[in-house]
Amino acid sequence: MNRLIAENVNAMKGYTPGEQPRMAGVVKLNTNENPYPPSPRVAEALARFDTAILRRYPDPMASALRSRLAEIHGCSPDCVFAGNGSDEVLSLAAKCFAHDGGSVGCFWPTYSLYPVLAEIRNVRCVTFPLSADDGFAWRTPDPGFRPDLFFLTNPNAPTGVLYPREAVAAFAAGFPGVVLVDEAYADFSGTTCADLATAPDNANVIVSRTLSKSFSLAGLRFGYCLGPAPLIEAMYKVKDSYNLDALTQAAALAALGDLDYMRANAARIVESRTALAAALAARGWTSTDSRANFVFARPPRGNAAEIFAALKARNVFVRYFPAPPTTDFLRITVGTPEENAKLLAALDELNA
Ligand code: PMP
Repeated sequence: MNRLIAENVNAMKGYTPGEQPRMAGVVKLNTNENPYPPSPRVAEALARFDTAILRRYPDPMASALRSRLAEIHGCSPDCVFAGNGSDEVLSLAAKCFAHDGGSVGCFWPTYSLYPVLAEIRNVRCVTFPLSADDGFAWRTPDPGFRPDLFFLTNPNAPTGVLYPREAVAAFAAGFPGVVLVDEAYADFSGTTCADLATAPDNANVIVSRTLSKSFSLAGLRFGYCLGPAPLIEAMYKVKDSYNLDALTQAAALAALGDLDYMRANAARIVESRTALAAALAARGWTSTDSRANFVFARPPRGNAAEIFAALKARNVFVRYFPAPPTTDFLRITVGTPEENAKLLAALDELNA
């Protein structure tokens, strides 16, 4: 205990990101990155980028990006917040919408950053349990479950399960706090709740998105959210003055100008996801019905920890969350067909 450090920070462990191995020859299926490169328009924008403008601070409001996103989603730029990865969006939401002495909430299992954001904000995190017995399907939280801010990942991670849009809409309509639908993986799911966030009468739904997955730009750090103008304005008050550097703004704008490229890649990944789930099923694995760019699967003997370690020893990285209720499962990012074949070959060698 260091008395110079705030108590809540002293007490917290911090978020554990997936490993980023830097050696060559690794099959990296552990952090839900896109196996295909970003749109060539991103490289063109960076090649054209005039470094002389780096002398100046970037546009603090990322106006060009907000306008483009407003055009894509059919809303006013006032309803768009542009952030440094969707992690910044989530962090700002905890700062803006959790009240002193209040709480943030989420399903469990879900994205493990949310409880960390509650710790940073020094509020409680309340969780509503999902069950492996029904494939981690949607369950409507009890009426007594009333955090100030509910993080609702859709499709969920690490399970990949997609919640019906109608269930999310009905839940949000009766919820007294802010519902933030984290759509990091929505482009792989064929559906979205973005229209709930941009509806003129919406007061409490925010939908966040990222370019890290479907747009193949995890290294760039760009995410955004859509929501009612007053909530978006609150987030702008709280953000760092220059949260988005000029290079990121230029590259993200180029990527958002090439939606067809993103969609074609997402379609390839969805096809590979189906093939990978089928190949695992043929080996006796059971998977959730994932609608994201990963599969969440249980090996036939339930020895997920052992398989995780043995794959790693063979330079095949997948993700393992050892605490219940995910102890028996592995989350495997969908790679290229070649990478998926290497994973399956490693599993066959292990007789897993
Ligand atoms: N939400 C979910 C559900 C995620 O899995 C991730 C990736 N770790 C993020 C948000 C953060 O993505 P970004 O790279 O945009 O910060």
